[in-house]
Amino acid sequence: MRKKIVAGNWKMNKTLDEAYVLTSEIAGMVNDEVRGDVQVILCTPFPYLIPVLNLVANHPAIAVGAQNCSEHEWGAYTGETSAGMLASLKVRYVILGHSERRHYFNERGNVLPAKVDIALKHGLSPIFCCGEPLEVREKGDHEKLVRQQINEGLFHLDEGAIQNIIVAYEPVWAIGTGKTATAEQAQEMHAVIRRQLTEKYGKGNAENISILYGGSVNAGNAKELFACPDVDGGLVGGASLKSREFTEIVKSV
Ligand code: PEP
Repeated sequence: MRKKIVAGNWKMNKTLDEAYVLTSEIAGMVNDEVRGDVQVILCTPFPYLIPVLNLVANHPAIAVGAQNCSEHEWGAYTGETSAGMLASLKVRYVILGHSERRHYFNERGNVLPAKVDIALKHGLSPIFCCGEPLEVREKGDHEKLVRQQINEGLFHLDEGAIQNIIVAYEPVWAIGTGKTATAEQAQEMHAVIRRQLTEKYGKGNAENISILYGGSVNAGNAKELFACPDVDGGLVGGASLKSREFTEIVKSV
C-alpha cells in the first residue's frame, strides 16, 4: 500500500527564529487527528535542517527533507551540499528536479539521474518533481514532456530502487501562482505517470509509488485534489509557511 504524504517546501524563506516557531506549531498541531499512515515532510533550507531535525526528533509523523543535493560525492565544489552530508544528519528525503532548479539552474537530464543515484546511495528518498510550463500545456504537449522528464530522470533505476522514489507532479503554471490544476487535470496526469511507471516496472511496483500533486495547494482545495485515486498527497510551497493552513492540508489527505 503506498504512503499518503504531505511535504512542505519552504524554499528560501524564514529566519531561524521563524523556522523554530513554524516547526513547533506544526509539530503541536499534527496530532492524533491526523491519520496514522500519513508522512509529513518538512523540506527546509539547509541551515535549518539540524534545528528542525532536533525539534521533530520524537515526532511520530514528521520527517525532514532537503531541497536539493549535489550530484557529486564529496570534494572541491564550493557552496554545494552532498547527499552523504544530508544522510549523516539523518535527513531522509530530498527534493530533486524542482521546476525552480530546472529553470534557474538548468537542471535536467544532465545532472538529475546522477543526483537521484547519489541520494539513493546514501539512503535518501528523492521527491522527484516533473511538470510542464504553460506554453507546453497550451500546445497539448504536457503528457509528452512529463513522460520525457520521468524517463530521463528515473528510468535508469531498477525495480528495487524505484520503490524509494516519490514522484511529484507540479505543473509549472500552478506553482506559486494561486492557479491550481483542477482535480480532473491532476488525476489525468497522475494516471499518465502511474501508467508509465506500470509499463516500465509492472503494476505491483507502480501501485506502491506515491505520486504527489504540487501547485498552489491550500486548505481550500486540498481535500478535492487528495480525493483523486492517483493523488497520494501534496508537495506544498507557499501554504507550508503557515502552520495552521499547512496542518489543515495534512488533515485533508
Ligand atoms: C512548490 O514549490 O513545489 C509549490 C508547489 O509551490 P506552491 O504551493 O506555492 O505553488
